Amino acid sequence: MSDKIQFQQREQLKEKPDQSSLTFGKVFTDYMLSFEYSIDKGWHDLKIIPYGPIELSPAAQCIHYGQSVFEGLKAYKHDDEVVLFRPEENFKRINMSLSRLKMPEVDEALLLEGLKQLIDIERDWVPQGEGQSLYIRPYVFATQEGLGVHPSHEYRLLIILSPSGSYYGGDSLRPTKIYVEDEYVRAVRGGVGYAKVAGNYAASLLAQSNANSEGFDQVLWLDGVEQKYVEEVGSMNIFFVIDGKVVTPELNGSILPGITRKTVLELAKTLGYEVDERRVAIDELYQYHKEGRLQEVFGTGTAAVISPVGELQFKDEKIVINDNQTGPITQKLYDNYTGIQSGKLEDPHGWRVVVPKY
Ligand SMILES: *Cc1c(COP(=O)(O)O)cnc(C)c1O
Repeated sequence: MSDKIQFQQREQLKEKPDQSSLTFGKVFTDYMLSFEYSIDKGWHDLKIIPYGPIELSPAAQCIHYGQSVFEGLKAYKHDDEVVLFRPEENFKRINMSLSRLKMPEVDEALLLEGLKQLIDIERDWVPQGEGQSLYIRPYVFATQEGLGVHPSHEYRLLIILSPSGSYYGGDSLRPTKIYVEDEYVRAVRGGVGYAKVAGNYAASLLAQSNANSEGFDQVLWLDGVEQKYVEEVGSMNIFFVIDGKVVTPELNGSILPGITRKTVLELAKTLGYEVDERRVAIDELYQYHKEGRLQEVFGTGTAAVISPVGELQFKDEKIVINDNQTGPITQKLYDNYTGIQSGKLEDPHGWRVVVPKY
């Protein structure tokens, strides 16, 4: 298992960016992990190669019919160690996404091993500043040439790495303004909403862009059938603190099962909060707000970790949450979550995975 993966060195290493200027997903490291699939050979040719342009047929199936899935996770550096956070969950989820799009599943343990070897080579690229990390993007796309509609016979998997600062830039706990989308929907039950597929994002961009031009940070999606129940935010799951209880919409087939969501639920329980996964209607939330029982709202996702919501707008009614301030439970969950990630706090759940030196 821990055999060294084939490694193709580049002639010249890139210059590393100034750590103080890091944004999100703009700079990439020297190397990437590559894996190929053909119907005859299965998954083969796992190797670490120089990061750079790839060759793709103009008739590649991913472009025309959208067989493309991805993942996102992060590596952190503290003292001299580089640590991943629950990476096995990401590889489990990529297989779930792959199988939904009739794409071939991968060996999760082998991929994790490949990722560790890649990151070991790139450890000098992991930034150490507050809120900074190495963002890891695994993805799989259909490469077979041809225009007939059928599951592709060939695929490519790549993992690329990007040293990144905080997602929204600057203060990661700045409360966001969210527009509750009442026209477009992101996903429906029976569709691909629960899978991390590229097309879900394509479907979301028009509403996201409309909301941005009205001064909102993100869109909150409602269910695709009745447009009544809350589902999730752009690239985050959504949580509410109602009467001191931590509440999030239950996974229903159209919501993406976030790993941060799962971790926050476990963490909240550990910290002694009552948690509830259930259907949450938008009208119900507005009612709770009127009664002074909706205390906090926050989103969760790998990129932004935990992001407080300061304002919700549904149709023409705006509500302000917790005086547009980060609430105490949001803050406590954020401190504990990032404390465990960064190694400042104990890790009783065994969520951190140290990248070995090979
Ligand atoms: C990735 C993603 C999330 C968050 O998932 P994490 O595993 O917590 O990063 C939430 N919603 C959507 C639509 C996503 O693509």
